[in-house]
Amino acid sequence: MTAIDKDAILARYRAERDKRLRDDGNDQYVEIAGAYAHYLDDPYTPRVERAPVTDHVTFAMVGGGFAGLCVGARLVEAGITDVRIIDKAGDFGGNWYWNRYPGAQCDTASIIYLPLLEETGHIPTEKYAHAPEILEQSRRIGRTFNLYDKALFHTRVTDMVWDEDRGVWVVTTDRGDRFTADYIGMGTGPLHVPKLPGIPGIERFQGHSFHTSRWDYDYTGGDTYGAPLDKLQDKRVAIIGTGATAVQCVPHLARAGGTVYVVQRTPSSVDVRANQPIDPEWFKTIATPGWQKRWLENFAQNVGMGPPPGEDLVQDGWTDLTRRIRERIMGLPMDQMTPEKMMLAYEDADLEKMSEIRARAEAIVADRDTADKLKAWYRQLCKRPCFHDAYLQAFNEPGTHLIDTDGKGVERIDETGFWVNGQHYEVDCIIYSTGFEVGTAHERRAGFDIAGVGGKRLSEAWADGMRTLHGLHVHGFPNAFVVQFAQGANFIVNVPHNWTDAGETIAAVIRHARDTGASRVDARPEAQAKWVELLLSGPGMMAGAAPDCTPGYYNNEGKAMDARAAFGVGYPAGPVAYFRYIDGWRQSGRFEGLEFA
Ligand code: NDP
Repeated sequence: MTAIDKDAILARYRAERDKRLRDDGNDQYVEIAGAYAHYLDDPYTPRVERAPVTDHVTFAMVGGGFAGLCVGARLVEAGITDVRIIDKAGDFGGNWYWNRYPGAQCDTASIIYLPLLEETGHIPTEKYAHAPEILEQSRRIGRTFNLYDKALFHTRVTDMVWDEDRGVWVVTTDRGDRFTADYIGMGTGPLHVPKLPGIPGIERFQGHSFHTSRWDYDYTGGDTYGAPLDKLQDKRVAIIGTGATAVQCVPHLARAGGTVYVVQRTPSSVDVRANQPIDPEWFKTIATPGWQKRWLENFAQNVGMGPPPGEDLVQDGWTDLTRRIRERIMGLPMDQMTPEKMMLAYEDADLEKMSEIRARAEAIVADRDTADKLKAWYRQLCKRPCFHDAYLQAFNEPGTHLIDTDGKGVERIDETGFWVNGQHYEVDCIIYSTGFEVGTAHERRAGFDIAGVGGKRLSEAWADGMRTLHGLHVHGFPNAFVVQFAQGANFIVNVPHNWTDAGETIAAVIRHARDTGASRVDARPEAQAKWVELLLSGPGMMAGAAPDCTPGYYNNEGKAMDARAAFGVGYPAGPVAYFRYIDGWRQSGRFEGLEFA
């Protein structure tokens, strides 16, 4: 790439970012509450009345998605079977319970994305499994490990308070439950509270509307298995948002035969998907004991920046991206291996990749103007990269129209439709594909704020920034585990890998407590402080953090982070090093940094 090309592209990146920066940052979004609360209704499972629960369990886990299921499974494997999972949904599955929009599928290869395949014996049917299979895997984990027995669904935890005298957590819920637990876990997930765009007039629309995470198949026809959305044939539908969700569902809307307006503020980068069925015979050849752990580790090594692992088992868009970057850096002459030169090599690899992705839009989309508008002008990791082989093609359907807002978003909504660039579009239905709350207060998203020793709330403990030991334990909150990836592996390319690993740690800690007769486990304050210090000594790079990145939830909508989000960093040496470190920590049996009493 010539210097002039590069300068021009980087100037375009900055110009596109500048168009999109806005003073209100994350506050541009509307919390789904009050008059909007119906957008959260569960369209899938009827709510069943039940008597309040007032018993005691060994472990209470908030969240029945992959995090809760992985922790539950690992506990059961370790002989701790008295586990209760609580979830606001009507079944297990977490995000995969809610997100049943047409075309939903995983973007990381099933073989490593679907947790506990070896333990449950499931063979994924395709390289990127579709949502029904992923939801079924969640249920399978629930059944395999008897996690249904004590689960409470359609139940929101309202509070969890540590009772020092009794050495238990007191859990209360919106169903009148009040029970106790020796240990608690929080696996509420990073992206579970849908949000609406703060478009003026949004409340005035008189047509039908819903959020993609509560897809209304009664209105659209079709089903989550991909049946045609036959009720849209004579409808005009707008889908607002063009992130990873829209990329997957727009092809289905386009195929329905009605009029579809895809309303875009920022285009996604959409690379090749190359999905394919998994041949069970081939699968047998790899499925020797311990296979999934090997594949998980191989993938983590391939997408990490450490030494190349030799082979790339998964071979997908993620490993391709990092392989290119690694090759560029490794290709530097020894005397040029300086941090600055390595950063430039990284930049070149990224520019090359993004040029290919822009060329892909041009090659696929017939209308030149539409193709141009679908080109993403930012570094690939500024936003969530997408992979799809039917999204760009959808814009060749006669009824599908890209409504590009040139970074400004929808001007306003009125009773009959929406306005962009001074033009009114009349529609029957608006589908909000506008994502999920990120960067709002944890207690707002979770709906509760646990109280530890002396009644201190977690929000108070973290008022000046999140502080944990290993991303899991928080001093002053004994017998509690926060199951999330910050301050741990921070491995966002394959989120479930964080959960299976966290499950192992939690099970090992509780097993150790039981074996040694301890009933109270807390992080030592000095160990926690040292861990946070170690984390902050690292580069602290977050995805989307480059200064010319277009705004989005990866970078707090382009605003400087507030103190609460400030320490959302991972282990400085990267995910693979974290997984190795924590494995050694578990194996040592010393559990350094924890105090057992
Ligand atoms: P996103 O937050 O990625 O996208 C929201 C979209 O809404 C963006 O295109 C945004 O534009 C647009 N938007 C917001 N406000 C306005 C407005 N006022 N006018 C017009 N457009 C607006 O949400 P998604 O649901 O697509 O994805 C969220 C995350 O969920 C993904 O990043 C991914 O992590 C996960 N996901 C994972 C999948 C998988 O693994 N298979 C599939 C789908 C989602 P702008 O970009 O300008 O802000």
